Amino acid sequence: MADGSSHFAFTKAVETATASVWNKVSAQVTPLEWRLQAPLIAEINRLKREKNAVILAHNYMTPEIFHGVGDFVGDSLGLAREAARSDARVIVQAGVHFMAETSKVLCPDKTVLIPDLQAGCSLAASITAADVRLIKQRYPGLPVVTYVNTTAAVKAETDICCTSANAVQVVEWAAREFGVDRVILLPDEFLARNVARQTDIGIIAWQGRCEVHERFTVADIAEMRESWPDAQILAHPECPPEVLEACDFAGSTAAMSDYVTTRKPRQVVLITECSMADNVACDAPDTQFVRPCNLCPHMKRITLENIHDALAYGRHEVTIDADIAERARLAVQRMIDMPPPATPARYDLVKARHHVDIELI
Ligand code: SF4
Repeated sequence: MADGSSHFAFTKAVETATASVWNKVSAQVTPLEWRLQAPLIAEINRLKREKNAVILAHNYMTPEIFHGVGDFVGDSLGLAREAARSDARVIVQAGVHFMAETSKVLCPDKTVLIPDLQAGCSLAASITAADVRLIKQRYPGLPVVTYVNTTAAVKAETDICCTSANAVQVVEWAAREFGVDRVILLPDEFLARNVARQTDIGIIAWQGRCEVHERFTVADIAEMRESWPDAQILAHPECPPEVLEACDFAGSTAAMSDYVTTRKPRQVVLITECSMADNVACDAPDTQFVRPCNLCPHMKRITLENIHDALAYGRHEVTIDADIAERARLAVQRMIDMPPPATPARYDLVKARHHVDIELI
């Protein structure tokens, strides 16, 4: 593939234009790396103005993307809300493919670009629309809640979407709305198990897994406690429930970030994707981050180089069948229309019910 991004030089003008980003990321990026990254950041920011484009950057992007070129940054829920509000003509999704689909679903008239078409997700790949249709036949009358980490075709078969930031709230809403005491929550088994511990609503779940978070174990946490006895350990709810139980706090990426920046622990371990810690560290200079994290290979496909090429050459445009997009929009919009949680949602580890059974399909 032609790479149009390799000829930019680190000039005085580039250094000046990117100085505020350097101040932010200098603890995470070496000066040598910066000489390569800064010219691209300057050029990407120029292209955004020229093309009337915005970049939605997920928390798992590397710091030079997250802090350097992201116009809106955050978790899936926050990015979905920003996509809906944005009046830019072009959206570049610095994230994975299902996120770009969500942006397209919410903004059918905008051009949505994903810098690498192979940026997938093990959760999104775990279930198809045909699977959901069969599940609905097996459980008639029960609402289907889908995690946003699914394809538009899967969302189109479901009643409402959720993220890890609002899953408990959405499950309880769906049960009330349908007048039932059980809800189908797809496709992340561990998120479903962790939600089940926070609510009285019965949960029917699918056996999808996030390949990044499923790898953390209780033994990992015990080792960390031994090595860093003073560290606060925070986990994402895509981890197994017993891992959450061994930690000090569990919540969505937004909740973890909020915990660190407001409570300012002296030492912290984030049990999640590696770049999350790097990005929060840029905003929390007084906290020491211990980094036994896992990389998401899909998120790491997105680079400054391919973001540049996406903007410069309009690649790769995300399109969705109109009927699927319309039905998926209902499910996503229902979630967006719910009031945002007053504080970023946490999974209460003290009040959590233990050994809750869920039905696995
Ligand atoms: S971190 Fe997990 S859920 Fe997120 S994109 Fe990667 S595989 Fe999917």
